[in-house]
Amino acid sequence: MAPRHQHLLAALRTVFPQPVSDPVHDSYVVFSILRALDQVDAMKSQAPILGRPQQPDYAAAMASRLDMASRPLGEVVRELVRYLEGMFIWGHPRSQLNVIPVPNVASVIGVLLPALFNPNMCSDESALKFSEAEARVVAMAADLVGYDPATAGGVFTFGGTGTLLYGIKIGLEKACPDALQSGVCGDAVVLTSTCGHYASYTVAAWLGLGQDRVISVPADEANSIDVAALEAAAREALAAGRKIAAIVATLGSTDAFGIDDLAAISELRDRLVDEFKLPYRIHVHADAVIGWAWSVFRDYDFGINELEFRGRTVRALAAAASSIRHLGLADSVGIDFHKTGYVPYISSLVLFRDRDDLGLITRRRETMPYLFQSGQHHPGMFTLETSRSATGPMSALASLLLLGREGLRVLLGHAVEMSEVLREMIEAQPRLSVMNRDNVGPVTLFRVYPRDVDTFKVKQREQHEKTYRDRLLAHNELNRQIYERVHTEALAGFGVAISLTDCYRRTDYGEPINALKSYVLSPFADEAQMRSVLTHVLTAAGSIG
Ligand SMILES: *Cc1c(COP(=O)(O)O)cnc(C)c1O
Repeated sequence: MAPRHQHLLAALRTVFPQPVSDPVHDSYVVFSILRALDQVDAMKSQAPILGRPQQPDYAAAMASRLDMASRPLGEVVRELVRYLEGMFIWGHPRSQLNVIPVPNVASVIGVLLPALFNPNMCSDESALKFSEAEARVVAMAADLVGYDPATAGGVFTFGGTGTLLYGIKIGLEKACPDALQSGVCGDAVVLTSTCGHYASYTVAAWLGLGQDRVISVPADEANSIDVAALEAAAREALAAGRKIAAIVATLGSTDAFGIDDLAAISELRDRLVDEFKLPYRIHVHADAVIGWAWSVFRDYDFGINELEFRGRTVRALAAAASSIRHLGLADSVGIDFHKTGYVPYISSLVLFRDRDDLGLITRRRETMPYLFQSGQHHPGMFTLETSRSATGPMSALASLLLLGREGLRVLLGHAVEMSEVLREMIEAQPRLSVMNRDNVGPVTLFRVYPRDVDTFKVKQREQHEKTYRDRLLAHNELNRQIYERVHTEALAGFGVAISLTDCYRRTDYGEPINALKSYVLSPFADEAQMRSVLTHVLTAAGSIG
């Protein structure tokens, strides 16, 4: 009789994909996925969440221990599906929470295939044609943002934060040559706007610069960096003998869709490098993890407007496109396909206009003895990661092939159109005010004010008048209460789930200004849902005060 472990092994062999053709087993794999989907389907309703609202039970989680026995696949699937209970359905027309897309089917298969065959993108010796897929997306994206694909380069990494890490690290190597080998020399700073993402601080901290080395430059009313203030801050740093590791421009800020003037920033950089006779070129990184996708409108003829968007939408798309078309001026660009590319987490690409920049962070070959014995393309020589998944590039490629420029134009145009519909309705309401009026993306920040407040003047007063502080804080509280009411109703299946940002910007005297936030990305959003946002907010406002 075979030893006991042989029996168990025989059973375990069935829970792996079969190495040689076995269509019967394939259908068992597909059927297992189907069973999971079936169970998830039973959780769908009118509400923009699966099942009922749930909070994680960490006490139960902490009591969990590894069992002795194996379990049947079907049982494990059932248990896994439980973790979807209460999960938001980002693609639901009643879900307008944040810059989180619903992934399209092609991009999900783009995750599934590498999950089944497990390439390691450290090198093409272990990923083969998957590495070609990454190179292909790099070329497509480079061309899209205005780089020359023949000289540009890039890699997928662990999120928008990762793209900033690469951009700033390479800028740091330019400012402090050989920091890779001997550590950070002297005092190097990063300049970004107050509307930039906090990830710049994370990166400064992790690179050993320290968060204090991030200089936060004020943003103007349109949530774009104040270029004059940037110039002043840069001059002050250089005059004090500090180095500039990078200027981080934000193209599509997280809350408001503010867009920095990259043409002006790039021109400023050139002037400073000349004037201060710097031995390095200050690196300009474009944090376009959200805004990159608007590049598909670069060659859209807004006069002809063949997709027949409405006037307001055309205006908004054209305005965004005219700022975003300067992306090619940046030395590096961060792109999140998992934000505005309709792809699952994580799918982030950092591009460099000049691929030779990546040479600045390449390790010596002898430090990696077990790698790169064959093959010809070894991103692992310079990437922070050693094991690298192919799910990011494959899902991005899937989405780009599936949608094309036109598909992205339609999806983003529709999202912006819905946002414009909401803005039009808000503008007609005396108690409501759009906060990011000058921003032209799919996100609307708005506030409700008490009945006695003049909404024509209140924004200026909140922003500039210190004596208005108590009123500002009271308005913050009112909007928080409205958010809580609207959110609870939405999870119960009434109205639309929107979100709240605690601080979409600060007042001149340093207080946060919060705002209700509708972020439309769902292809399923329609005008009825936008109206529903308004009516639920107004009803909550009426009953709260
Ligand atoms: C989301 C975001 C980031 C961080 O990206 P992750 O993919 O979440 O790591 C950085 N910058 C901006 C402007 C963002 O919106």
